[in-house]
Amino acid sequence: MERKCIHCGAPFQGRMDKKFCCDDCRTEYHNKIRRQREKGLREINHILSQNWRILSAQLRKGRRRISVSELAAHDFNFEIYTSMRKTFPGRRIYGCYNLAYRISRTGYVHIFPIFEG
Ligand SMILES: [Zn+2]
Repeated sequence: MERKCIHCGAPFQGRMDKKFCCDDCRTEYHNKIRRQREKGLREINHILSQNWRILSAQLRKGRRRISVSELAAHDFNFEIYTSMRKTFPGRRIYGCYNLAYRISRTGYVHIFPIFEG
């Protein structure tokens, strides 16, 4: 019975349950599905690593306090973080891997390492 490959569309002969014309098509098809599935993961990882680079660059310069607007100018994304902890009402500490920050009411971001010796 003639069937059509679900990856390249080429006709082929084979069993009813066969979906691909060759092994390469089967591999490429599954790789494509995996890449699409992992796209969201890569996008979030990209934002997190960019945030981490921005925060650690400040710490390297010895700056533990930076204004929200300056951080935003560096394209810091405030919506994505690795953890969030509420301390007392109205105060939150955000984690970005091994770094943490809190945002004060006066519009400043205080940065500190989570694992501080
Ligand atoms: Zn094919």
